[in-house]
Amino acid sequence: MRKQNYPISIGLLLIFFTPASAADKPPAFSRTDLAAVSTLRERALVDTTAYQLIESLTTEVGTRPAGSAGDKAAVAWAQREMQRLGFVNVHTVEAIVPHWERGEAEFSVLTPYPQTMPTLALGGSVGTSNEGIEADAVMVKDLGALAALPSGAVKDKIVFFGNRMERTRDGSGYGKAVPVRAGGPSAASAAGAVGVVIRSISTSNLRFPHTGTTRYTATATRIPALAISNPDADALVRQFQSGQPVRLRIRSSSRDLPQARSANVVGEIPGTDLANEIVILGAHLDSWDPGVGALDDGAGVAIMMGVARLINELDVKPRRTIRVVLFANEEFGTSGSLAYLAANQTNVSRHVLGFEADFGAGPVWRLSSRVNPAQLPAVDQIFRALAPLKLVRGDNAARGGADLEGLSKLGMPILEPSLDGTDYFDVHHTADDTLAKVDPKALRQSLAAFATTVWLGAQYSGTWERVTEPKPPRR
Ligand SMILES: [Zn+2]
Repeated sequence: MRKQNYPISIGLLLIFFTPASAADKPPAFSRTDLAAVSTLRERALVDTTAYQLIESLTTEVGTRPAGSAGDKAAVAWAQREMQRLGFVNVHTVEAIVPHWERGEAEFSVLTPYPQTMPTLALGGSVGTSNEGIEADAVMVKDLGALAALPSGAVKDKIVFFGNRMERTRDGSGYGKAVPVRAGGPSAASAAGAVGVVIRSISTSNLRFPHTGTTRYTATATRIPALAISNPDADALVRQFQSGQPVRLRIRSSSRDLPQARSANVVGEIPGTDLANEIVILGAHLDSWDPGVGALDDGAGVAIMMGVARLINELDVKPRRTIRVVLFANEEFGTSGSLAYLAANQTNVSRHVLGFEADFGAGPVWRLSSRVNPAQLPAVDQIFRALAPLKLVRGDNAARGGADLEGLSKLGMPILEPSLDGTDYFDVHHTADDTLAKVDPKALRQSLAAFATTVWLGAQYSGTWERVTEPKPPRR
């Protein structure tokens, strides 16, 4: 099958023989650095460390929501594993985190056809009294539909948000659907409702409800909010379609506990001639409580630690310092990210390039960026070095993830090997986010894509200039 070999051969030709520009600028990457790409890729494609890290984190620590015993255990686990893998300057950055306890939740349809369905409280939801809340229900599609109802339409009622999330590769379906989870409870409360039930922000037809943060406003009364799975939401829609009044009962023992101490865990592969410049690799250590966070974000933790380890084992040393930061509490308010930024106020400009992995275990299908346009030719060359992995070239409007949002807003360039999110929202924030959902082959391919990109980012012969354009809106 010689013909199939052409793309690789052409890719290699381009890598090794791209001429310096007319102005005799030094090449963006040295021959040695480009040669190391093949070594990194070949090692990544047979790597077992990344999978073993997810296995160890999910087995030995398990669920690790902010403030829990698992959260503390995860911080200890990460320090131990970074030391074992040979990282240096391993340390923690304290973060004060909220501590919310889920408790138990119940959801029942009382009329017209009595049913009890599995449910999860949304993260941060207040609980109900022990007896729960019983009320007639109103079904709306989304926040726009709620706002369009006549005044008083949901007074003393439970609002059911029924819109279904769309499955997409790039996560854009999540962006469109998630405002109901974040803002639905306060919007319904402001209109007089006493409780909220949402169709899970989910692409699965399994009977697993999905949790995730809700954000109460300062002004509306806090009302309890639960999620039910897609198939149960479909069944509830059919009950509404019967034309008879739908009466629901919800009960939850969720509660807030005093804030707790957690920490970001940091470890480095030191740079050489440009050691003062930091290439930051971010993922988050916490998870939601129902599952063990194998995909969210055990996979991101493993990819970033795996990349740093692979680079550390090369004969050539990185020019810039590679700093892995495993952030505390991304899920419930990005406390770790905010603490990191506060602790690094005078070091912001040293963070010259950022990577984040918080979208499952791959494969990587695209290379996007958000860099100063002067560095786009270098990104093009990195893309060519990724040719054997057959990625798509994305645009220069990458958003990055939540944990690097602060640094990115301050002008730090971002390179984004995009993880394929097609199936990610089947298990995201459910009890089913387990090691069984990690495809070892896709994980190794992701490791290869990240390792190549991070390595070349750390070796770039030019300057990663700051990004000055305003950040594009979330897609
Ligand atoms: Zn996450």
